[in-house]
Amino acid sequence: MYSGHVLVAEDNPSNQMLIQLLLKKLGFETTMADDGQIAVDIYDSKPFKIILMDMMMPNMNGYEATQTLRKRGVTTPIVAVTANAMKGDREKCLEAGCDEYISKPITKDSLEKVISLFVKPDNQGDVDMSDDGVAKINQDAGPIISDLASDPDLYIVAEMFVDRLGEIIGNVKQALASEDSKALKDLFHEIKGAGGSAGFQILTDKSAAIEKLILDDNKEERNAAIEEFFKICDRVQATAEVA
Ligand code: MN
Repeated sequence: MYSGHVLVAEDNPSNQMLIQLLLKKLGFETTMADDGQIAVDIYDSKPFKIILMDMMMPNMNGYEATQTLRKRGVTTPIVAVTANAMKGDREKCLEAGCDEYISKPITKDSLEKVISLFVKPDNQGDVDMSDDGVAKINQDAGPIISDLASDPDLYIVAEMFVDRLGEIIGNVKQALASEDSKALKDLFHEIKGAGGSAGFQILTDKSAAIEKLILDDNKEERNAAIEEFFKICDRVQATAEVA
């Protein structure tokens, strides 16, 4: 997990939403600028660790905004975000003063990969930290969008999983009612494997924790964790469904 602020210059509302959600998953707080001029204007408002810069924006595009920031002596890493994957695009972005380049559609993996080149994560592998991260996500009542939502080839995996989720929850409730520990354990073992594959790492994390509580025969904590799991399931969505 990461922490701190990221400045995002992006004019498209869907991309804004996706980037903001992905950054949140990584632990970042996002400050959104609708165009390059706004990004330049608000740059000084927070100690940004990195800037994600869409190159095609109205008023002031990403090339101009990057050049303006560099002329002002700003050394914060700037990652160009562009829909073009044409030869020479990367060079054009680097020439403008960007440090790296990421092409749309952005995925959690591609974003994390490019950010990890410039920003250090907080205590990686610390179990308490990841628990904190999950707890933080749970406090939020908003939708949990699959990491695969932006992938035109893979989002179908998330849709299939979400379609099956009602049935899975029904089976969990049945196993709970009959106190069938073996069935419960098998169900959460299955969700542990399938959740992450469908782009819902939070379900994999939760299922792993519940599996442990089932093995420990800790019924009180197990039931509380499963209640929480149901609430998370209510919020998962295959795509952002931007109307
Ligand atoms: Mn744009």
